[in-house]
Amino acid sequence: MPDDIPGIHHVTAIGSDPSRNLSFYTRTLGLRLVKRSVNQDDVSVYHLFYGDRGGSPGTSMTFFPYPSARPGQVGTGQVSAVAFLIPEGSVDYWVDRLADADVDAADPFERFGDTVLPFRDPDGLPLELVARADAPDGDPPDGPVPERRAIRGFFGVTLSLTSAEPTANLLETMGFGETDRERDRHRHESDGDLGYVVDILEDPQAPRGRPGAGTVHHVAFQVTESDQAEWRDALIERGIRPTEIIDRKWFKSVYARTDGGVLFEFATKSPGYTVDEDIDELGERLVLPEWLEGRRDEIEAGLPDLP
Ligand code: ZN
Repeated sequence: MPDDIPGIHHVTAIGSDPSRNLSFYTRTLGLRLVKRSVNQDDVSVYHLFYGDRGGSPGTSMTFFPYPSARPGQVGTGQVSAVAFLIPEGSVDYWVDRLADADVDAADPFERFGDTVLPFRDPDGLPLELVARADAPDGDPPDGPVPERRAIRGFFGVTLSLTSAEPTANLLETMGFGETDRERDRHRHESDGDLGYVVDILEDPQAPRGRPGAGTVHHVAFQVTESDQAEWRDALIERGIRPTEIIDRKWFKSVYARTDGGVLFEFATKSPGYTVDEDIDELGERLVLPEWLEGRRDEIEAGLPDLP
């Protein structure tokens, strides 16, 4: 078997207005735009990557902002919430910060002993801030949020499923063993320090998710180059049909639709977002993988303006 997976690599969601998306994730949440590129499967749409200073694995939230996207519906068969990790003692700061920015937020509450602050992005995507004493220092970007309050990266994701099995079983295989349970929420944890939590919310009656703005497209887990093919084989053995290994320039990816309907990706930690840009210049210009560089003029002409 390949090694256990330490945590989430990135999460990719669908948005609408790219300028509004950029403003929310950088100015309101204080993440850094670490890559400005296009959806490699639809080059008329941006692919915006936000993260810590260098876009380390476990910190990067990415978007396909389709300007005319219709709102989706968050529901079963999807990642139904994305949680970011903040240092303990930062909840009041974030309550005030989100209120000042007129963000749609609810009151903080306790879940498995942690304080959770739920809110939504401008497209309605469900997000959470989870405060923990063991949040790593990380490498937060210079930005509007003071370093001691800054988002460290992912805490985890919630999967909404009509039936917890067999996704729970797959997660166990990946290294995310079940550690706790509270009513219909099953907590699975791996041993990494970012993106190490996957909660399964089991609700046979919940509405089925529908893709669109404000919904997650897929969740990617960190694997090593040497383990990636083994994970692909392990998925095939389970009767899941993964894609081939796809070169995404900043990582290599295998995608697999899991039995519960959620799209998983197995993405390599290397080479990372600094492979084609200096760390001080990340996100400033449109970056294309070399196989799209010949179409740059056409691609740039088809994209909306972005600050
Ligand atoms: Zn991905």
